[in-house]
Amino acid sequence: MIRYNKHKRALRIFLIINALVLFGQVSAQQNNQPFFKTYQVAGKVHMLQAPNAGGNIGVFSGEDGVLLIDDRFDQDTAALLEAVAAITDKKIEFLVNTHIHPDHIGGNNNLAAHGVLILAHDSVRLRMLKELRIPRRGGITFPQPPEAARPVITYSDAISFHLNGEEVRIFLAPPAHTDGDSFVYFTGSDVLHLGDVFRTNMYPIIDKFNGGSFLGMIEAMGIAIGMAGPNTKVIPGHGEGFTDRAGMLEVHDLLTTIRDRVQILIDQGSSLEQILAAAPTADLDERWGQVPSWNAADLLPIVFQELSE
Ligand SMILES: [Zn+2]
Repeated sequence: MIRYNKHKRALRIFLIINALVLFGQVSAQQNNQPFFKTYQVAGKVHMLQAPNAGGNIGVFSGEDGVLLIDDRFDQDTAALLEAVAAITDKKIEFLVNTHIHPDHIGGNNNLAAHGVLILAHDSVRLRMLKELRIPRRGGITFPQPPEAARPVITYSDAISFHLNGEEVRIFLAPPAHTDGDSFVYFTGSDVLHLGDVFRTNMYPIIDKFNGGSFLGMIEAMGIAIGMAGPNTKVIPGHGEGFTDRAGMLEVHDLLTTIRDRVQILIDQGSSLEQILAAAPTADLDERWGQVPSWNAADLLPIVFQELSE
């Protein structure tokens, strides 16, 4: 396991607190634990997980080298490199960004300086060319990432790696969390990384500033479920641990339940205000709606809007 000296640990905790304030989520960091918790998911895929504010990282390693999926925040890179080094002595060759959000691309600049080749969907690179606005707390803005953070290779539809003895398929999902969400399927290890289209800790975030769609998210989850077999393991963009097909079905059911309940109210002639007052997700909020910066009050207007179009 990784150990930090006292000074580094204090700095790390300070930065984590900053990140947590930024993203409005609550989490506890134990002083005596390494920053990343490492999970062996299946085959050649590990997952690195740290307190809630940043996305879950996929690590695909073998004799050819390492492919990373996402890289959290700028200040996490040192811990990320240490966590990967604890898994393999091979070099990190490639990084794929599942989407544009700062908690998934924040280490790009640092990793590029380590000679890592960055890939992402066309839309991710385009959105890196300007200031970024994301929907947390109604809309917060991030400065344009540095040029070195941009993907060197982009794809419009799909791209495959042939690495470490298996094929890794990366492809664009329908507009869901954003309009540039990539799914990653490690065919030999039988592991899916779905980025923030799939999260197990809260209601799904539909980023309307960056082309997201609630109905698209249902479609995207359907595609992922259709790909999964009984042994497939699934890495969520956020949420503790990894899961499987049943975990995806639970979220798909959640989405369709919300859709159907709001549709019934719309069919009865309810306005958005009346729908919010009716609290159609009241029984779901305890499990899914406890993050103050994104809960039913943020999600329901989007569902209403899309179903009313
Ligand atoms: Zn995201």
